[in-house]
Amino acid sequence: AETIRLLSSSQVITSVVNVVKELLENSLDAGASSVEVKLENYGLDRIEVRDNGSGIKASDTPVMAVRHYTSKISSHEDLEHLETYGFRGEALGSICAVSEVVLTTKTVDEDISTQYTLDLTGKIVSQKPSHLGQGTTVCVLKLFKNLPVRRQFYSNTRKCKDELKKVQDLLMAYAIIKPELRFTYTHNKAVVWQKPRVSDHRTALLAVLGMASVANLLPLQHRQEQPEITIDGYFPKPGSDVAATSSSSSDRTFIFVNNRPVHYKDILKVVKEQYSSQYAKDLAHGRHPTLMMSITVPASSVDVNLTPDKTQVMLHNKEAVLSAVQAMLGTLYSPQGS
Ligand code: ADP
Ligand code: MG
Repeated sequence: AETIRLLSSSQVITSVVNVVKELLENSLDAGASSVEVKLENYGLDRIEVRDNGSGIKASDTPVMAVRHYTSKISSHEDLEHLETYGFRGEALGSICAVSEVVLTTKTVDEDISTQYTLDLTGKIVSQKPSHLGQGTTVCVLKLFKNLPVRRQFYSNTRKCKDELKKVQDLLMAYAIIKPELRFTYTHNKAVVWQKPRVSDHRTALLAVLGMASVANLLPLQHRQEQPEITIDGYFPKPGSDVAATSSSSSDRTFIFVNNRPVHYKDILKVVKEQYSSQYAKDLAHGRHPTLMMSITVPASSVDVNLTPDKTQVMLHNKEAVLSAVQAMLGTLYSPQGS
């Protein structure tokens, strides 16, 4: 049973960025308005995510890290109206199987918080009162301590730095899609990046990407019924030199489906085709434009249950969504539109 647990857990939890994503999504599902992410030694020694969300009530703590326990869906039908990031009840248990987890939590009804130490199977082995305020703090220590090969992967500083960049990109994506959320990100006790609460996506983009990038972006919207599709976003102005504004070496293409950051090749392709019909040179060397696009469709018409990390989604009305993206961008990029 130990081996099976370890095998299946290591498929859910494959990397540092994976752990950060799962913990962050739990914080968002708990309604947090402030999240702090702290890593030590690239996350290998410690990953800590602290939120001021709902907390976990004492009666739920014995099962919280039990495989397939989730407080978020109670019936099969709920899967069709998914409004939370989590629903599999796999993350916490899987993280326990590959690290040491200490979780501190307090709900609004409790006077003080409790710190729980969990074992490899997700069971509570000890608990004690703690001084932390409302919300939940999860500390993941010694990640992959029992998976030497995966641990070895991170012995290379370059790989660690790549991983840190992925964490940074992930946090940026959530910071953009959740403007009202206050974010702090710390590595080895130094604040790398933080974002205050802001009121809208444009201000969030400013906080995350800086003025130089955002000055070249224009807002676009698309709304339609049957099928119901809403798209909001910020796209490079025609003629603006995208290559020059993305001074960082990374792509800044943020695509969301129902508030989830996703990798969606077909959408990206439509964007690039529209954009590069005029600005092909900017997209040389495989670069993507700086943009953010948030697509909203009814929860029942998207399937996020394809991969454990939920970064791939399946849209039931994919062709309609692609046409909508194309039509919307056409108003900005087509020659007759300029
Ligand atoms: P899922 O998110 O799919 O429900 P997880 O394994 O990530 O599964 O979490 C298990 C359960 O633990 C959640 O359903 C939730 O009840 C509780 N939980 C985990 N993290 C938090 C948090 N930060 N705040 C409140 N509850 C949490
Ligand atoms: Mg979760």
